[in-house]
Amino acid sequence: MYWEKDSETVPVETLKELQLKWLQETVAHAARSHFYGKRFAEAGISPADITSLEDLSRIPFTTKDDLREDWPYGFLALPKEDMVRMHSSSGTTGRATVIFHTQEDIDGWTDIVARSMYMTGMRRSDVFQNMMTYALFTGGLGFHYGAEKLGALVIPIGAGNSHRQIQLMCDFQTTVIHIIPSYALYLTTVFEDLGVDPRRDTHLKIAFLGAEPHSEHSRRRIEDFYGVSAYNSYGLSEMNGPGVAFECPAQKGMHIWEDHYIVEIIDPVTQKPVEDGEEGELVLTTLRRRGMPILRYRTKDLTRIIPGTCECGRTHRRIARITGRTDDMMIVKGVNIFPIQIERQLMEIPGVGTNFHIILDQEDYTDRMIVKVEVQKDYFTGDLKQLEALRRRIVDNLKSDILITPKVELVEPNTLPTSEGKAVRVFDKRKK
Ligand code: AMP
Ligand code: ZN
Repeated sequence: MYWEKDSETVPVETLKELQLKWLQETVAHAARSHFYGKRFAEAGISPADITSLEDLSRIPFTTKDDLREDWPYGFLALPKEDMVRMHSSSGTTGRATVIFHTQEDIDGWTDIVARSMYMTGMRRSDVFQNMMTYALFTGGLGFHYGAEKLGALVIPIGAGNSHRQIQLMCDFQTTVIHIIPSYALYLTTVFEDLGVDPRRDTHLKIAFLGAEPHSEHSRRRIEDFYGVSAYNSYGLSEMNGPGVAFECPAQKGMHIWEDHYIVEIIDPVTQKPVEDGEEGELVLTTLRRRGMPILRYRTKDLTRIIPGTCECGRTHRRIARITGRTDDMMIVKGVNIFPIQIERQLMEIPGVGTNFHIILDQEDYTDRMIVKVEVQKDYFTGDLKQLEALRRRIVDNLKSDILITPKVELVEPNTLPTSEGKAVRVFDKRKK
């Protein structure tokens, strides 16, 4: 049931003692890097000042801009010669942030990915098809190494090439997949076109869904179509990548591995901690990384701690599904809206297909939101009244959640462009 029982079920008090020890080591170690050497001097702190976990709050936050400014090697706490791997974030704006790992860092990361996969029931007898981009993105190699360590047979196919994905799944009796949720939804239409039913024609039983926000309804749709249990997998390249937080079989939030990260949730505006259970921005500190430690990293991801203990017996706290990033928020007619709110409403409505786009523009100097929604094929061949009824229902459901009335356009399946990586949903054409 456990990959490393002692670590996964460590008593909370022991965990805190260990965290303090690792934090002190990390801070002392980070001080050797150009960036933190300077940062600590400016803030007038020295590693010896960290005598309790609370002292962490004396250290300033680290942001993506910091990583970009001291680019590329300013965060290294060990000589470049000790690094064995580079990864980078998939950010589309600005200079991509890069992260370097020593062999020891890779081993630690691999271990928590293997732990996460094992937790869901994956075993060495499984055939694992990794449908994520390899290369610099961490979802490919991160899972690859974890799955090999677990002893599973890995098919490193990478992203895209839908027909071949399905072919391999059938031929080699894949049992576990790792897939971006928007792609998993899109792929359902390819299965249907090919007349392949994953429940009947494949051996799939587990899916890992990660890399982008998705709603509970999307998860259930994927589980129903593929006949799998689907587990939410959260990570970011700055904190290694996958394996930061992962769902256990209870599927009630993701355990965040507190023997590798210190978790804080802050109000993104005041930057003060929020109460347990309240939503805020996730801030993480690496505890075990040597090549490139990062302290109090502002992830921009919005989530909350789920209070209480988990029925699985693991003592590491759980975070809720990520609801978006602070910079994903759209302000339309003065109302704050996150794309996940739209997804949540759409995926609940029968008849809605697998893709949607949100277009923001202005009409007579007023904001306008257009939501283009793919709907199932039969709606276009049948009675048009049915199509209009579906459109009305979508408008009403969206309005009840986002409080403005969007213009909804229904389109046929697979007519909206898709991307191989993280889905691009929002197109803001307003003048800034
Ligand atoms: P990257 O560093 O390019 O891998 O991107 C990491 C970002 O992807 C995170 O900061 C999140 O915004 C997003 N992300 C990753 N996994 C998830 C997940 N399971 N749910 C929601 N967002 C996710
Ligand atoms: Zn659990």
